[in-house]
Amino acid sequence: MKKHNFSAGPCILPQEVFKEASQAILDYNNSGLSVIEISHRSKDFVDIMEEARSLALELLGLEGKGYKALFLQGGASTQFLMTAYNLLQTKAGYLNTGSWSEKAIKEANLFGEVVELASSKDSNFNYIPKGFDIPKGLDYIHCTSNNTIFGTQIKDFPVSDAPLVCDMSSDIFSRQLDFSKFDLIYAGAQKNMGPAGTTLVVIKEDILGKIERQIPSMLDYQVHISKASMFNTPPVFAVYTSMLTLRWLKKLGGIPAIEELNEKKAKLIYSEIDVNPLVKGFAAKEDRSNMNATFTLVNEDLKETFDAMCAEAGLNGINGHRSVGGYRASMYNAMTIESVAALVDVMSDLERKA
Ligand code: PLP
Repeated sequence: MKKHNFSAGPCILPQEVFKEASQAILDYNNSGLSVIEISHRSKDFVDIMEEARSLALELLGLEGKGYKALFLQGGASTQFLMTAYNLLQTKAGYLNTGSWSEKAIKEANLFGEVVELASSKDSNFNYIPKGFDIPKGLDYIHCTSNNTIFGTQIKDFPVSDAPLVCDMSSDIFSRQLDFSKFDLIYAGAQKNMGPAGTTLVVIKEDILGKIERQIPSMLDYQVHISKASMFNTPPVFAVYTSMLTLRWLKKLGGIPAIEELNEKKAKLIYSEIDVNPLVKGFAAKEDRSNMNATFTLVNEDLKETFDAMCAEAGLNGINGHRSVGGYRASMYNAMTIESVAALVDVMSDLERKA
């Protein structure tokens, strides 16, 4: 039986993409070669890379607006340091909304002064801080749009004169935003794009080249831009599969279409969380994420029963992160509403049984 995959990442990807990717592993475009054994300098792969880069910009509405898209390696975690390496001359402002923000702050501290603009640590990151002041003279502001572990999502982004850098690892391509408000966006592929192994970085080119330090080539955005994301051998399979997912999303109607589905899925699960007396939502209602819904059981004694019911219904990957406990249902772009309905059925069955 195919499972309902609620994993936080790596996670569910569109079945159509798997079908095409498996075929391409065996024989890419009837070339007699696998997509992972052709040269990255071949026309076939250069075309894949170029399509991936331009689809990313097109879907985000950033074509012709001075942005470049790169598919790099090292995960979003490398972007924690790369952003600071390339942009932090004196001081930068960081919004601390969870463990991933904290990790970004730790890396940035190696390069300059970090001003923590606001933090929700006082409440185990179950909300997004609002109404904080932003000092003048920051090299940039960094935020995490979706807090995968805690299930919160920023709805209103900080507004200031400083460039805005955002870790969108767990909600890229999931909702409509004015992406031109951001100067640098990065996202590991393994949620809404493809297999782990590549990270999408979208940069407004004019924010680069303003710092004094020397940057090693592999960590220098300008080097990667000048080589069209082919400075070294790219992770060919991860880029190819990401490209297929972006094609899939475009065919579906792009971000507006997927946003509509994501909102329906989120509404379905949060309505259950709100009416079911046996569960309690973790995130503050107004800050709830449409990608990761976090909840706990009111009575821990029901855990064994609930876990057994989930297993029986083929629900996979809903255990919460250790720092929150309870459960986390990750509902990325490729998840169907039927899978969310299957989880909601189990939750309401639990109420009937208990
Ligand atoms: N940022 C966010 C919001 C994440 O959810 C994750 C991983 O789950 C990361 C960063 C780290 O990504 P990576 O494992 O690709 O370095």
